[in-house]
Amino acid sequence: MDEKKVREAIYCMKSFADDTVCEECDNYDGCDHTMVADNAKTAIEALEKQLAKKPEMRTAYNDFVGRLICYKGFCPSCGGVVESYRNESCHHCTQMLDWSE
Ligand SMILES: [Zn+2]
Repeated sequence: MDEKKVREAIYCMKSFADDTVCEECDNYDGCDHTMVADNAKTAIEALEKQLAKKPEMRTAYNDFVGRLICYKGFCPSCGGVVESYRNESCHHCTQMLDWSE
């Protein structure tokens, strides 16, 4: 996914979530009007996970001659343990990970 597009979508969703757009809804009287904000929040959280973040406490693991085997660290979103050789994204919460320096 294009990072610029994701950032724009998040920006747009945030302004959308702050507005009341309920007036047009058929279910106006039967609703407490929190659904728009809740749904937008869910969408924003999912979009933010598409933007790669650096793992916390990235640690390099080397073999006995000093060749890099992999990096390990903690997911910046959920705190789960992640490993560079198999996790392009966090397998706990789907957060995309950036293992670069
Ligand atoms: Zn995670």
